[in-house]
Amino acid sequence: NHKERVQKIIANSGITSRRKAEQYILDGRVSVNGQIITELGVKAGSNDRVEVDGVPIEKEQPIYILMYKPRGVVSTVEDEHDRKTVIDLLEGLNFRIYPVGRLDYETTGLLLLTNDGDLTYQLTHPKFKVMKKYLVTLDGILLREEIKTLEKGIMLDDGMTAKCKVKVIQENKKENSSQLELTIHEGRNRQVRRMIEYFNYNVKKLKRIQYAQLTLKGLKEGESRALTPHEVKQLK
Ligand code: URA
Repeated sequence: NHKERVQKIIANSGITSRRKAEQYILDGRVSVNGQIITELGVKAGSNDRVEVDGVPIEKEQPIYILMYKPRGVVSTVEDEHDRKTVIDLLEGLNFRIYPVGRLDYETTGLLLLTNDGDLTYQLTHPKFKVMKKYLVTLDGILLREEIKTLEKGIMLDDGMTAKCKVKVIQENKKENSSQLELTIHEGRNRQVRRMIEYFNYNVKKLKRIQYAQLTLKGLKEGESRALTPHEVKQLK
C-alpha cells in the first residue's frame, strides 16, 4: 500500500493548495485516523482516514487515460521552458492527472496518465518489471553478435541492463538504417537511446508500441482515450 505525504493527499483532493495544506497541519487542523498531526513528514495511504477540521477529505475519482503521444511534447505536468506538455493535449479535463513515467520530447507512442498514485507506484517501481515494447529506427545495422550482447545486457552509466528481447523488423543496407522491436522490463531515463548509443549508433525514431498489455490499437497520433474498467483491472 503506497503512502503519500498528508499535505499532498489534501492538495490532491482539490480543497486547497499544498502550501496551505502544510499550514493546516502546522495549525493542528489535520488528523490521521483520529490523531491530530502537527508535523509535515507524516504519510498516509488509501486505508488511512485523513480529516481537515474534523471533515474527511473526499477521495478523487480515479481516472486512467491512454495517450498516443505525438513528438514535440514533454511528458511532464509543467515545463521549465514552457514547451507544450501532454497535459495541454488533454484540454477540457477538469482533473489533476500525471504521466506514468516519461517519454522523451521526440519519442512518440503509448503513455498512460492517471491520478491513481498507488497504480503509478506499481507501474513505475523497478521491482515490478512492467513490460514495454519499442519500435526503434537507427542510423545503422547491428551485427548479430551485437544483438546478442544487447539481449544479454550491457553496461550503461547507471549499471547493467537486464535481459531484453530484440526482433529485427527491417534492415536497409543501401540507406544504412534499420528498425528493431525492443522489449524491455526497465524504464531508466533515455534507456533505449543509450542502449543504441552503446553500439555507436543513434536512434532516429522511437515509438513505444506496448505498455504491459496495452497497445495503441485504434488511436491516431495525438489521440487519447480512457481505459476500460477491464484494462484497469488487468494493470493492477
Ligand atoms: N527510452 C528512451 O530512450 N526514450 C524514451 O522516451 C523511452 C524509452
